Amino acid sequence: MGVPENIAIGSHIWVGDPELVWIDGQVLNINGEEAEIQTSDGKMVVAHLSKLYPKDTDAPADGVDDMTKLAYLHEPAVLNNLAARYKINEIYTYTGNILIAINPFQSLQHLSDVETMKRYKGATLGDLSPHVFAIAETAYRAMIAEEKSNSILVSGESGAGKTESTKMIMHYLAFLGGHTAAEGRTVEQQVLESNPVLEAFGNAKTVRNDNSSRFGKFVEIQFDKKGRISGAAIRTYLLEKSRVCQVSDPERNYHCFYLLCAAPPEERERYKLGDPSSFHYLNQSNCYELSGINAAQEYLKTKRAMDIVGIGEQEQEAIFRVVAAILHLGNIKFAGESDSSVLADEVSRFHLQMTAELFMCNPTALEDALCKRMMITPEEIIRRSLDPLGAAVSRDGLAKTVYSRLFDWLVSKINISIGQDSSSKFLIGVLDIYGFESFANNSFEQFCINYTNEKLQQHFNQHVFKMEQEGYTREGIDWSYLQFVDNQDVLDLIEKKPGGIIALLDEACMFPKSTYETFSEKLYQTFKTHKRFIKPKLARSDFTIVHYAGEVQYQSELFLDKNKDYVVTEHQELLSASKCPFIAGLFPPASEETAKTSKFSSIGSRFKLQLQQLMDTLSSTEPHYIRCVKPNILLQPSIFDNMNVIQQLRSGGVLEAVRIKCAGFPTHWTFHEFLTRFDILAPEVLGENFDEKESCKKILEKIGLTGYQVGETQIFLRGGQMADLDAQRARLL
Ligand code: ADP
Ligand code: MG
Repeated sequence: MGVPENIAIGSHIWVGDPELVWIDGQVLNINGEEAEIQTSDGKMVVAHLSKLYPKDTDAPADGVDDMTKLAYLHEPAVLNNLAARYKINEIYTYTGNILIAINPFQSLQHLSDVETMKRYKGATLGDLSPHVFAIAETAYRAMIAEEKSNSILVSGESGAGKTESTKMIMHYLAFLGGHTAAEGRTVEQQVLESNPVLEAFGNAKTVRNDNSSRFGKFVEIQFDKKGRISGAAIRTYLLEKSRVCQVSDPERNYHCFYLLCAAPPEERERYKLGDPSSFHYLNQSNCYELSGINAAQEYLKTKRAMDIVGIGEQEQEAIFRVVAAILHLGNIKFAGESDSSVLADEVSRFHLQMTAELFMCNPTALEDALCKRMMITPEEIIRRSLDPLGAAVSRDGLAKTVYSRLFDWLVSKINISIGQDSSSKFLIGVLDIYGFESFANNSFEQFCINYTNEKLQQHFNQHVFKMEQEGYTREGIDWSYLQFVDNQDVLDLIEKKPGGIIALLDEACMFPKSTYETFSEKLYQTFKTHKRFIKPKLARSDFTIVHYAGEVQYQSELFLDKNKDYVVTEHQELLSASKCPFIAGLFPPASEETAKTSKFSSIGSRFKLQLQQLMDTLSSTEPHYIRCVKPNILLQPSIFDNMNVIQQLRSGGVLEAVRIKCAGFPTHWTFHEFLTRFDILAPEVLGENFDEKESCKKILEKIGLTGYQVGETQIFLRGGQMADLDAQRARLL
């Protein structure tokens, strides 16, 4: 690309800045291709002309509510617009029909009360200021009018506000499709109250969010012919199991453990619970409390929510008994030699007794299940003792298995209790799922999360692209030079069968002699020339994937272990023999059928299948997108950190949508808007009784632009043309 003609001495521009990402300034001098710039914070910088972006000096100080209304649609303008709006507590902005939501980190009451819901009811998108309610309203109306399912996809990094936005959407849909009669527990109440239940068991404090969801969630709300909520289904994805027995400071374990430790005294006594700090699974971190949250009240609230979603008193007792058992289980320590292990002390003996009592199983059987393994050889069955370390791993494995079965039980119970409306013709699906992650250390979890995001990104691109095309077709203009950039190559790298990373990981897991090193070596060989795969310099087992949102280096050490999905036979036998029907029910005996067909099941493959089902569902719906953005890592109100925001816009696909728009006609202006700004370029066209469309054409002809298009109601300009027009206009002003 040549030097932009529209930049000259005196031009107002945006230039890159190491701290602010982009800063505005004015060109003082041009030497060849280098511009000398005075920035608005008083610095002098020199930059290549091609690195400058024109600044719209007519842009309103409070920003515009839709990025497509920006005269110049480029990264600095997008960032500046969001910052200007955030300053005045306007946290929502559209990019076409994508909603960007920036976490306010403070309660903005007027944004979510019933009065606001009433205002959005029946309103057309764009008539009122941008809002999640407007998106939910659009989805609902589209569903009724077109008799078609819709979905709302909420994404963003941890702490960006996905779950809060999702809850607002669910509230709004309940408001629209609710039943007025006092029928006791209505479907929509149950749908709403499923949130506190799932949050108590699936959310935890992390460094990124005090109430971080450690699972993905897709809620499908079903409607009857009259548009009233008639059923719902909740699907969850990949609960983080490791947190049950491993917590790092200053994070916490799942909320339910702390809530139970704050239960009324008689319950604490029944479960022999003390202070959270007395439990190994909780005291690995020094954080026990959440600011602004009263655990005792939260416990009662959770139980009330359980009542509403149909979890009975006895089941609640059993659920919390299991939670208590896990805490006691974690306090069992082992000692002994390398070829045997025994309980470390009397305290451990006490906790073993308590665990067995709460699980309602035989204490000796529990001890054996933790300390011994059966080996089946063709000749005989050998009972082998685990060493103390192996016994601790076995204990943690049991805790994780029980907890994840408990969580799955909760989800399925809620689904049964809310009920599915099998006659429902259409639904609205709401997806609240983890955004792209790239940390200092990236393991199997990040791999799965980023794989999810690749899938969603592909769906997003296809959709944005299609919407653009449809917009152009409606206006009767040619869109043949729109280009579609696909990320299918990354998806192939990950999920292709055979030969993709997931398939190779499964192979490694099935082959007893494999290690993470042989697995990585296999990846290096297989993908030597793959554009999306890199063997990092000096790496022995790390590998890098070039994701759409950037490169991520993965540590493969725990990939094999984390991918294996089996329950130790001893644990299975122990708990399926529990005298408590609830616990035994969590461990149903494997049927002949499943035992034969799925000798090996892996987390990766199962996740891939789940994801494919999700994509199939989404493909049959009309999607709407909400991109949540976290404005700072301090989780504080009123701080807009440019660097943070821009990274999220880049990896969240917002800028990709902008790019797709720019590849076509980024500026769409109505004839009237166009004339208001540019009549000065050819005042002679505005005679009496002028025709707006014809006048616009005449102005454009006079200026000598090419490549723009005139649609039915709008002018479509190519990238950069707006700046050309403005440059000419500036000379006349
Ligand atoms: P995510 O699900 O993306 O990880 P959450 O939805 O849990 O993030 O939001 C994190 C925190 O940010 C919330 O606990 C709340 O304090 C704050 N927050 C998010 N969205 C809003 C909002 N719309 N209004 C006020 N506070 C919010
Ligand atoms: Mg969340």
